[in-house]
Amino acid sequence: MDKLRITEIFLSLQGESRSVGWPTVFVRLTGCPLRCVYCDTTYAFSGGETRSLPAILDEVRAYRVRHVCVTGGEPLAQPACLALLGALADEAFEVSLETSGALDVSAVDPRVVKVMDLKTPSSGEAHRNRYENIEWLLPHDQIKFVIMDEADYHWAVGLLNEQGLAERCEVLFSPAMGVQDPKDLAEKILADRLPVRFQLQLHKILWGDEPGR
Ligand code: SF4
Repeated sequence: MDKLRITEIFLSLQGESRSVGWPTVFVRLTGCPLRCVYCDTTYAFSGGETRSLPAILDEVRAYRVRHVCVTGGEPLAQPACLALLGALADEAFEVSLETSGALDVSAVDPRVVKVMDLKTPSSGEAHRNRYENIEWLLPHDQIKFVIMDEADYHWAVGLLNEQGLAERCEVLFSPAMGVQDPKDLAEKILADRLPVRFQLQLHKILWGDEPGR
């Protein structure tokens, strides 16, 4: 039977991506092979509890909401994550997956919305980007850049243009909270007429960095 290591399952408002604002059950899987400098979920690097797939599905159903987000850590670091995503989609949940972009996304169920990071230089993990993943993104998916500084911005714009990312799916530019001034990033996007969506992390505005939010 498929088992997964789980840090937490909780109900909150989706703070990011196209489904921002929807009541959403978050399934946070334990473990991540990356160490981004701005990581806000270091508590998910280890620990957690091993749970069976049916037990996870029961808990998700009990919240009685339509949106489910599988996150981490890096959820794809656990092979059984693929089975979890498929099982949630089979139950007609609106399922999204938050992934670092460092692991292969080719086998993710196409009913699942992939929200895939491309790590910027200032994250310290840009060398982990698996650019082959871009080929596997569908129009309903999203690519997210977390921008820390001017250099990250120019790097992200370069990639946006070289790879034609905005023609493939929506692209999100998000300021690293407490590091990049959001207004400055918003103004740059407007001045450069970038075909990207600016986003602030709603859950942090509402609740700060509290785990389980
Ligand atoms: S990929 Fe996500 S969970 Fe992993 S270190 Fe980076 S920000 Fe943290």
